[in-house]
Amino acid sequence: MDEYYERRKKLVEKLKYEFNLNEKVVKAMIEVPRHLFVPPFYGNEAYNDYPLPIGHGQTISAPHMVAIMCNLLDLDEDMKVLEIGTGTGYHAAVVSRIVGDRGMVITVERIPELAEKARKIYGDLGYDNIEVIVGDGSRGYERESPYDRIYVTASAPKIPDSLLFQLKPFGKLLIPVGDFIQNLYIVEKDEYGQIHRKNWGAVRFVPLVGDEGFDD
Ligand code: SAM
Repeated sequence: MDEYYERRKKLVEKLKYEFNLNEKVVKAMIEVPRHLFVPPFYGNEAYNDYPLPIGHGQTISAPHMVAIMCNLLDLDEDMKVLEIGTGTGYHAAVVSRIVGDRGMVITVERIPELAEKARKIYGDLGYDNIEVIVGDGSRGYERESPYDRIYVTASAPKIPDSLLFQLKPFGKLLIPVGDFIQNLYIVEKDEYGQIHRKNWGAVRFVPLVGDEGFDD
């Protein structure tokens, strides 16, 4: 148990109550030390419920957003999950605890320095079911497709066709869409490959920059 354990547990229990989190999400968020994913200067703020700067004009998502997205993804052991927008790697770390050793998380980040930070933290923590790829995730990551779940932690101008294509039948995709006004979409692919989408509500993310995202 680390020095922040009690604060982390208290925050996660509050989120569980507010957002009706399932037990898998609760357990994973209590396990993952968020303070290791923020710059040392912000270590003491890691268990407050807001985003923090991680350099390069990017942020680590607020704990409630990670919790809500993990809950909506309806994750299970053994799943293969694609994340677009690693940042320093906190959200993918939480997902990796839920999918377990027989599952896999592939996470794509366009800023090499952030990807390297995430790799280093995963190495230190011994999280070896996460693969960090440097590149433009707006086109997904075809090599490991198809995926049970895909989620994007940056806001896109529209839902990228590549991501829809790389999703398995019965798979789910979560993606924020919009510029100034953004909404989180829950997209499901049925057994015939048909796409069904629901708007979960308003959110705030940094832009997805790339071929199927916004211009740099
Ligand atoms: N998942 C992160 C976490 O755990 O806190 C959130 C990271 S931040 C909100 C979004 C990230 O998406 C940034 O690090 C940004 O560089 C990245 N990003 C933006 N466009 C991207 C793209 N086309 N491909 C990959 N990463 C991208």
